This record gives sequence, structure tokens and C-alpha cells, in this order.
Amino acid sequence: MFDGMPVRGVLVRLTDVWVEILRRRTMAGAAYPLPVQNLLGEMVAAAALMQSNIKFNGALILQVFGDGPVKLLVAEAQSDFGLRATATVVGELAPDAGLSSLVNLNNEGKCAITLDPRDRLPGQQTYQGVVRLSGEDNEKLEKLSDVLQRYMRQSEQLDTTMVLAADDRSAAGLLIQRLPIAGAANLAGTARAQVDTDDVDANEDYQRIAMLASSLQRDELLGLDTDTVLRRLFWQENLRRFEPVLTDPLPHFSCACSRDRVGKMIRGLGADEVQGILAELGEVEVACEFCGAQQRFDSVDVAQLFKTDLKAPAASTARH
Ligand SMILES: [Zn+2]
Repeated sequence: MFDGMPVRGVLVRLTDVWVEILRRRTMAGAAYPLPVQNLLGEMVAAAALMQSNIKFNGALILQVFGDGPVKLLVAEAQSDFGLRATATVVGELAPDAGLSSLVNLNNEGKCAITLDPRDRLPGQQTYQGVVRLSGEDNEKLEKLSDVLQRYMRQSEQLDTTMVLAADDRSAAGLLIQRLPIAGAANLAGTARAQVDTDDVDANEDYQRIAMLASSLQRDELLGLDTDTVLRRLFWQENLRRFEPVLTDPLPHFSCACSRDRVGKMIRGLGADEVQGILAELGEVEVACEFCGAQQRFDSVDVAQLFKTDLKAPAASTARH
């Protein structure tokens, strides 16, 4: 917190969990090309920052998709900071490819932020906000942080500044946000002038702190410890730092995939398609895109899957 100012910040640097996400991908024989690795790392850091900022009870899912050699990138942060991420690379890419040449060739790329409640009630919707990977004048944005800042302003009406960076060892980010002034909208008449003055002061505070945050360099964010980063940026500010609560779970790798879900997915392909795969390969093998876990279904398993499927319509017919 910045004492006496409506500005707050969050700083995260993920090491073990990020290395684990990359290790699983390498084990699966599909290590990410450098620019994809770095963009995905920025997404994981951003998902952790946004999750800690809103403390949502469920999954915060960040997706970037569009056209280009990368089809889709996904980063998920659960409320207990269980994290996972994956990217689908379909084409060749340059070693220095930026956001637009990875996933926004024709400026049709998008970023979606989904909030999926943990114990969803029947009929309860997930919340999703979508923002394009372009700026006010339709120009392609080259930094994920610019896309997310735009999203926060458009969808949440919150002025936000983000600095994100990743390499093969760390995924890190700094988020600075201007807090809404409590009750400002309810004040009217003579009180309004005072609120306007407060608002201008608050805005100056936010702008100054946001500018200091933006001066943070990639290698500083990736390499320096928290105290050093905060001291370098905000040594003139009245900063109050909160230590992480050690009883809270630390960020860790976590994947929600299961044999049950894969079974449902296979059923969704339809009996003909699945019989075709069985005839050709002898079994249906599905590897989780996030954790690499492999699920195998032989002809007996498949028969079992579709047997339960066939029972459902019979039961509903009987009811009529
Ligand atoms: Zn998995």
C-alpha cells in the first residue's frame, strides 16, 4: 500500500512453479520456442497477480488466441495459487517474435479473462471479459501488459499499470492499481468540489507511482529481490509492505485433469470417430496439454464409456 494514497501494488516472482511448468513440457518432447516461453511466463505471472488482486474463489483463466504460428496460450491461477499453463504452437516463428507476429498477424487476436467459480451452482455462469490485442487506434499491441492494462480500464474501470517479464527460470510481474474513491459517486452538490480536488490529487499520486513502476527494467524484475526492487522504484514514497502470509499456500503447480474428464471428452467425439481411432491405433491415447499426464482407453474402456452414454436416452424415454 502507498500510505494515504488510493494506490496499491502487488509484486510476484514465480520460480519453482514456472520451472515445473516448463519441465513438464520439455519431458513431453515439445519444449516451447523462446518467444512462446516468455509470453506464456508473462501470462502466468499476470494470472497470479490478478488472482491475488481480486481474491476470486475459483479459477482465473487468461487466454490469448488469434492467428499466427501460435494458436492459443492459456494460464490458470486457482485461489490457492495452484497454477498451470499451456500453449499450442502450430507454425514456425522467428526467435525474436513479438505478440503480434506470434498470435495477431491480421489484428484479429484476442485476450479473454474468465472467472470460473469453484463450486458452481447449476445455472451459474462463468464470467468472461474479452479484449482485442490492439490499442485505441486499432494499432497492434506488442506487449501483453498493454493489453491487460486496456482490459482493466475498459472492463473494470480501474487504472492499472503492469510490468511483466519471463525467462526460463522466472516469471515475474508488478501490478499497480488506482483504487476507486469510496462513496465518491454518492456525493453531490457542494461536496462535489472537494471530491474533484481529492480526485485530481489522487490521480497525480497514481500517475507518479505508475510512471515509477513503468521504469522497472526486465532484468531488474527477473533478477532482483523484492526489497531491492521496491527500494529502487519507490524510495521516495511512503510504502507499507505486507509480508506474504506463510500459512497461505505458496504458488505451486496444480492440474485439474482427470481420467473422468478425458472420458467425457472422448465421448464427445462420437462413437464413429472413436471406433475409427481404435481400428487404426488399437487404443485412444490422450495426453493432458497442461501436465503431460497420459490417459489410455482400450476397446473395453471405450465400450464402457459409450455404454453409459447409451443408458441416458433410454432412461428419459421411460420417463415419458
Ligand atoms: Zn493435467
